[in-house]
Amino acid sequence: MKPIPYGRQHITQEDINAVVETLQSDFLTQGPKVAEFEEKFAAYVGAKYAVAVANGTAALHLCALALEVNENSRVITTPITFAASANCVRYCGGEVEFADIDPETGLLDIEKVRQKLESQPKGYYTGLIPVDFAGMPVNLEAFRNLADEYGLWIIEDACHAPGGYFTDSNGNKQKCGNGVYADLAIFSFHPVKHIATGEGGMITTNDPALYEKLLLLRTHGITRDPAKMRENHGGWYMEMQELGYNYRMPDMLTALGISQLTRADEGLQRRQEIAERYDLAFKNLENVKILNPAAYVQNSSANQIHAYHLYVIQVENRKELYDYLRTKNIFAQVHYIPVHLMPYYQDLGFRKDDFPLAEAYYEMCLSLPMYPSLTVEEQEYVIEKVISFVQSKS
Ligand SMILES: *Cc1c(COP(=O)(O)O)cnc(C)c1O
Repeated sequence: MKPIPYGRQHITQEDINAVVETLQSDFLTQGPKVAEFEEKFAAYVGAKYAVAVANGTAALHLCALALEVNENSRVITTPITFAASANCVRYCGGEVEFADIDPETGLLDIEKVRQKLESQPKGYYTGLIPVDFAGMPVNLEAFRNLADEYGLWIIEDACHAPGGYFTDSNGNKQKCGNGVYADLAIFSFHPVKHIATGEGGMITTNDPALYEKLLLLRTHGITRDPAKMRENHGGWYMEMQELGYNYRMPDMLTALGISQLTRADEGLQRRQEIAERYDLAFKNLENVKILNPAAYVQNSSANQIHAYHLYVIQVENRKELYDYLRTKNIFAQVHYIPVHLMPYYQDLGFRKDDFPLAEAYYEMCLSLPMYPSLTVEEQEYVIEKVISFVQSKS
């Protein structure tokens, strides 16, 4: 069996043609494909505005800047996420706080967040960054209600969940990143994500003021729009009005993104099929815990779509299973090492046992191969190896 990674991109001849076409055009950095990708991506997730940026981390940084995170900001996120979800607050000098996870779903536990908020005077915290971890949509309506009580903004880290949705209390489907309950949402186009462009990211929002600000911050804080300038010296004139960055996404990569986006629903469906096959294979195994119990998803299948960026199982002897699978050419992965245990965050004062549920989850979690081009044969091989390992342990 050839090596089976936990995730990988799927590039077609159409994708390649789309990139080659832009290479032959007049634009290598921001050209017409950027606006086209933004428009199509916004439509896909159901948001009003989208801003394409260099990568998901840049997207988070710009969100924090647009929301004016500074030394006085205190922001709560989950310890079970990629470090960038928390780092964006640090880039702007703010303080990161964590709240523990719900062990059944792996998501930030809203009750733990509520307890944190209640333990301090109003105004102490400034924002929340929930993550649609593994592709399971966070109940953003509940987070919005809580955030409104305390005057907080919300950045939805939707990197794992393009195409996912939950149903709110009015019965409306709310797609991840649609900007209805969160102020801003971010996506990544890293090769293991649903839409792969190598590097790339997107911010979505329904807020016109934040949108304008993001556009400015993406390109050095420079405007060329005479209506917005303090002076105008002639055709060459432009003004740097804010301390911005170069976080542009180039035309050739947005062209790849547009082409990939046409297959997003197809890819999502493949992910669902793969998840179903894993669910069936593992549901009767006592010593394999499915992170998102099949019942949870199935009972509410009309109510939510899990985007399955990851398929996580939890087992005793996780390290042994990880090593064993590698000897079989299966490259499972661990998502995530709790962010608060990273040395950088320990140096800020976080310690082991601060978030025991996240730490217990980390000890047992393993992400199995999950990507649209995974074949049935490959998946059966993975399942067989996992089962033979756990049975040898029982
Ligand atoms: C991938 C990812 C990011 C960062 O995206 P990059 O494009 O790699 O910078 C942030 N948050 C989560 C949850 C991610 O999975």
